[in-house]
Amino acid sequence: MNIHEHQAKQILREFGAPVPTGVVIFDLKNINKEITKLKTRNYVLKAQIHAGGRGKAGGVKLLNNLIDLETEAKKMMGKILVTHQTGIEGKQVKRLYIEEASEISKEFYLSCLVDRQTSKVAFISSTEGGMDIEKVASESPDKIKTNKIEFSKSGPDQKEIDSIISIFDFDNTQKKTATKLIKSLYKILVEKDASLIEINPLIINKNNEIICLDAKINFDDNAIFRQPEIKNLRDLNEEEPAEIEASKHDLAYIKLNGSIGCMVNGAGLAMATMDIIKLYGKEPANFLDVGGGATKEKVSSAFKLILSDQNVKGILINIFGGIMRCDVLAQGVVDAAKEVNLSIPLVVRLAGTNFKEGQEILNKSNLKILSASDLNDAAKKIVEAIK
Ligand code: GDP
Ligand code: MG
Repeated sequence: MNIHEHQAKQILREFGAPVPTGVVIFDLKNINKEITKLKTRNYVLKAQIHAGGRGKAGGVKLLNNLIDLETEAKKMMGKILVTHQTGIEGKQVKRLYIEEASEISKEFYLSCLVDRQTSKVAFISSTEGGMDIEKVASESPDKIKTNKIEFSKSGPDQKEIDSIISIFDFDNTQKKTATKLIKSLYKILVEKDASLIEINPLIINKNNEIICLDAKINFDDNAIFRQPEIKNLRDLNEEEPAEIEASKHDLAYIKLNGSIGCMVNGAGLAMATMDIIKLYGKEPANFLDVGGGATKEKVSSAFKLILSDQNVKGILINIFGGIMRCDVLAQGVVDAAKEVNLSIPLVVRLAGTNFKEGQEILNKSNLKILSASDLNDAAKKIVEAIK
């Protein structure tokens, strides 16, 4: 789960990290009142969307008077912001964050994340802050330093912290603040079940102070159940409507941009199905794992979910009946297909438990369903059918 910058900064603040004072605006009417909480005339106005790259896309504005601030806020609120992270459809700005502007003398990059490969906590630091870290990684990887910390209750020790920040060339006072910051990041990661905390940029201002100027925190969805305050920060406006619908039915669904909808049981088989669609020259419209013991209602909602995507030109169902029964799957599909008046090609490959019964339900349904003998055959047939 992702949260907004202003929420991430609030968490950082609670854990003692240095962040600028700011106010969040949901309604333009409140600017005048909220702004009295700031002790400056130099503001930075920031669009709150779940995507980075706002600076380059006009979602970050520096302003030095209230009139300009109000004018720009009016323009920014409601605008569709397109950044390199939003995709071409962009994201609509529904809340703004106004901060006391900082005077930047240096910009750095600092992040802390779970490194799955080594089961450690990785800290990534770079002197090339403020920009696209992926670009730095590909063009000048020597400017990025990764330190992997063994998981422990006490967090990184001073030697490890020194290694994380050595690249920054801090003076002694800055080192003290940075040490505290690193400890706070580690604590947030562990206590709040975050999977990534990214400060980009981490800056040194004109008074030589260290400040977190931007903040992004991702949380582990599998741990959200034990983080009720974090769950409350969820902003459904930022999420794909189909994915919200999917989570209501406990379906593992991720929307993609292709034209072939997939319904599969098991994440591994779902990925193999997506791969083979690509092999035959088309792109999958989604990842969808209906899970083990799905009911026919669940199958039916999954099917409707796939069809709610306008880009879907054909559907490939690939089920290996283990715990999942092929007849239950078939009944769910037939019910949903009749209900929505299915008009696009559907290829079904069934194998395993109650496969014959499933096949019979499909055959008797009078729906135009192409059946496939194996995965190759299925992919070939659906790609052919949507031509
Ligand atoms: P992002 O583009 O979505 O990552 O948004 P950021 O919060 O990182 O802001 C983008 C850039 O705007 C930063 O790298 C800074 O250069 C600039 N910026 C943000 N806040 C301030 C500020 O308070 N003062 C100044 N001078 N620049 C800022
Ligand atoms: Mg940033």
